[in-house]
Parts: sequence; C-alpha cells; structure tokens
Amino acid sequence: MDLNKIDAELREKTSRAAADSFSKWRHREEPGEPAPGAKITFLGTGGNPEAIFSQVPRTAGFILVVGGIRLYVDPGPGAVVRAEEAGIDLGVIDGIFISHGHLDHYSGAESVIEGMCWGMFTRRGHLMAPEQVLGQDRLLSSYHQGQNMTPAGYKGGPKVIPLQAHREIKIKNAVLTPIPVHHAAENYGFILRAGNLLIGYTSDTNYIRSYRTPEGVQEMTPRGPIMDMLEVVTIVRILRIYLARWTCL
Ligand SMILES: [Zn+2]
Repeated sequence: MDLNKIDAELREKTSRAAADSFSKWRHREEPGEPAPGAKITFLGTGGNPEAIFSQVPRTAGFILVVGGIRLYVDPGPGAVVRAEEAGIDLGVIDGIFISHGHLDHYSGAESVIEGMCWGMFTRRGHLMAPEQVLGQDRLLSSYHQGQNMTPAGYKGGPKVIPLQAHREIKIKNAVLTPIPVHHAAENYGFILRAGNLLIGYTSDTNYIRSYRTPEGVQEMTPRGPIMDMLEVVTIVRILRIYLARWTCL
C-alpha cells in the first residue's frame, strides 16, 4: 500500500470538491421568475410517528410555486432527500413556511435553509414560523435563523418572520395571511393570494365548536365533549353497534 499515493489522491479529491462547492453552490445568480400559473409538488403526504420512521407515506411536505414565489411548506423528515429525488434545486426557494412545532412539519427545515441560503453564505429567502418554533422552544438553531454573524464565520441566513394571526406577509407578487388553526400550542394555516388566485392551507387542525363566517361567528349545536379524531376502526365499531340496535327495532 502506497500511503503517499493515497494521500495525494485524497488531497486532489478534497480540493476539487471544495472548488466545486465554492463555484457551484456558494456563488450563484438569483434564479429567473418561475413559469406563470400555480404548481404544487408533494414531496410527502404523511405525518405521525409511524410515517416518520417508516417513510410510508413520505413526510417531506410540499412545494408551492405561485405568484412568482417558490414556497416550501412544512419541510418534515427527508426534505432534502425527497427534493433531490424530485430534481428540485433548493437554491431557488424563496421562502419556507412552518405551520407548527411538530417533527413532521419542521425537522427538515434547517437543511432546506442551508440550500435556500446557498450554504449559509448568502442572506436570502424568508423563514416564516410560529414564535414557539423560533424562540420559545428554539426548534431551529440561531445559526439557521441567521443570527450567527461573526466576522470569521458564516454570514448567511434567511429573513425570519414570526407568524402572527391575520398579519399579511408580502413576498414578490404573493400575499400570505397566517390563519390560526386548532392543533398544538401555536399553529397556523394560511390563505395565499396571488393575482386572482386564492389558495388555502389548514395544516393539522381539529374539530371546533364555533367558526367565523362573513355573517359572524356561528355556533355549532353541542354534541357532547369534542374529542380528538377517532380511529377509523373505532368509528366502524360504533356504527356496527348502532346498526345492530336499529335492525333489532
Ligand atoms: Zn401536528
């Protein structure tokens, strides 16, 4: 074994990788406008622990392209891997929206931020998330929130926007309005307006007793305690019991 030869090869590979990383990922041009219209790419449609550890279904959230922006919504586990598989360049993403601080909605965000901010060498893109995720529970590091700005260190990071109910966020030609939903400590869906197109996203939510309409707040008829969602098997069992009683009458 010629250690000198192996050493020389490793040095050559390392310097090539470093040069490639510098020219390809750290110094880039801002991408052009996306094609008009709206496009959604689902990189995952699953949640809950079983989907997270089995990846069936996948849990990486989705990418919405509309109103001139490319928005990554709820990047869960596997975000960068699924984006790579789908041929999506994270360096063109304009914003990341995190609805709430559950693993299947935020845990891929730090990796996506590194792609969006070109290896953390550039200040670009928006990070929109509840204050609980950003500050209270510190689920995303201060580094990934762009707060580490030492002269010798990385200087990149996103523009951080804590979500507030009904406070509009304008990015390019799109206006995103966070809407509080009923799940977890702090959680927002959104209404996104782009031209004459209106897109709504609820994130995880729950049954509620009252809801707001243009005519005012409507109360639902009380039906006993409101529980978390029932398992399908439980519903089938209850239905069987009721049907059996009904057929006996
Ligand atoms: Zn959740």
